[in-house]
Order: sequence, then structure tokens, then C-alpha cells
Amino acid sequence: MIPHEKLHEETLVAAKREKTATLELLNFLLQVEDQRTFAVVGYDSMFTYVRDGLGYSSAQASERVAAMRLLRKVPEVADGLKNGSQTLTSVAKIASHVRRENLNCQEATTLVFETANQTTEALEKYLLGMAQVEPPKVERAKIISAELTRLTIDVEEEFMALVTRIRELRGNPALPLSEVFRHAMKEEIRTREPKEKVVKAKDVTVEIRSSESGLKQSGGSGAEIDSLNRSRYISVRDRAATHARANGACEYVYPQTGKRCGSRFGLQMEHVIPFAKGGANTAENLVAYCPAHNRLSAVGEYGTEKMKGFYRPRD
Ligand SMILES: [Zn+2]
Repeated sequence: MIPHEKLHEETLVAAKREKTATLELLNFLLQVEDQRTFAVVGYDSMFTYVRDGLGYSSAQASERVAAMRLLRKVPEVADGLKNGSQTLTSVAKIASHVRRENLNCQEATTLVFETANQTTEALEKYLLGMAQVEPPKVERAKIISAELTRLTIDVEEEFMALVTRIRELRGNPALPLSEVFRHAMKEEIRTREPKEKVVKAKDVTVEIRSSESGLKQSGGSGAEIDSLNRSRYISVRDRAATHARANGACEYVYPQTGKRCGSRFGLQMEHVIPFAKGGANTAENLVAYCPAHNRLSAVGEYGTEKMKGFYRPRD
């Protein structure tokens, strides 16, 4: 058995090391966001990078990303984490408050100092007391067995009125909530899911607007395009072929590891050889990318300087 005094001392040292390590991690995350490393190595956001790439849980990942963003805004957070007057959890809670209340740097800095050394519970009460904007409703998804997840959400009267209306329309006043949601979600997906159109006529180019499809055309420099006087419209056939190949997931692959992004959020079509540089509107020259990878390829093509205004990390 290790003597109590020695054990306590060593535990203290380990705790100190952990605090330094946390700060070190947040500083790395700052750079990963600044340099868009998360996108380069195949992730669609900082959150996905921390969760899937670094192996944290969803809750841990959002905590770390929130804390990193506050550290960006308020560098004094570093001292708080080092000397233990703030913890990762407290910093993340302050970060959410700062974002919700839209506090400026000075206000956020003041808040960090005011809340030093508070317990999580005291901090929550303190933040609630000074909140102008109503805090978000509680939402939880808890896995309760291999097949079941328990959802907890707070809803308003209007929401319940919608539930009642669906029950009326489906002629079952006791229709379980899960059935109401399942049906409503299926309907939503049915109307939003990009449809694969079968085009029979081989060489017909039909001009369709991006809003008609789940895959949006990415924007480009208008001036260069106009001067070339070419159509930016992509034929239904090429659009469908690109869509079928992508299978609803971002096609970006990090060459070094072969990791494919695979994000299913906000897919946009991107030219491999840029349209402005003569790239064709054919499926071979098109890829489906998530917003992060569209931005990344735009930066690669046009240079970081030109794209600066387009990239704003959320804080
Ligand atoms: Zn992607």
C-alpha cells in the first residue's frame, strides 16, 4: 500500500498534469480550426473531428469545441484552466452563455473573472440569473437498451396542438407519440430527399435550379464566369450521376489515410477542375462535397486571402 500522504501528493501532481493537458488540447484545437486541418483530414466540422477523429463522446466533443471557441475570444481562459479557477465544464457553460447572449470580448472576459472558482451548480444558477435570452429547452437522447433510445424534449402548446391535429387526421386519438413523429419525419424526408431523375433523351440538357435538388451548385466568381460566357447549369443526367455515385455523402477523401468525409449535411456540387478554369459540367468533373469541403477546395483553388471573408468560425 502506498502511504496516504505520498498517494495524495502523487494524485495532486496527476490532477495538475491533467489540467495542463486540457489546455494543451484546446490550444491544438484552435490551430486545427484556424488551419482547417479538420477538413483536410476528412471531417465536416470541428465537432465531428473531436468526436470521431479524437474519440470523444458527443457531449465531451461539444464541451471541448465550446471551450476552445471561448479561449479564442477570451485568452484569459488559459490562466483559469491552468490555475484551476475554471474547469473544462465551467468554460463550456460560460461559452454557451456568451454565444446565446451575444456578449462581446470585454463582457465575456468579465464573466470569466466573475465566475472563477464557482462550482458547476453555482455557475449554472449564476448564468441563469443574468440571462436575457431564454436558455434552450432540455433535449436528451438516452440509450436505454440495445434497441431503445429514450428522448426527452420540452415542447410548447403549439407543438402539442400539431400532435393533436395529426392524431385527428389519422383518426386515432391515442396514436403513440413515437408513431406521430415517425410519420411526420417520413413525410419530411420524402419531400426533401433529392430524387434521382431518370433522363431518357441522351443529349438533352435541362436547366434546373439548385433548389429543385438536394444537391446545390456551389457558388463561384461571377465575373470570371460571365466573361467566359458559358452556362453554369449542370444537366440532369450529370447531376443524377454525381448524386448516385456520392450516395448522399460527401466524397472528400484525405489521400494520406483514405478517410472519406461521408458527411450527409448540406451537400453541394463542386467542380474538380474549377468552372472558372474551364472545368466541364460533366459527372466526371463533379464531386458532391459538404460545406466544409466545398470551402476547403475553394481555398485551395483561389487562395486563403481571397476566401478570408467567407470563413468565420462560430464563436
Ligand atoms: Zn465533407
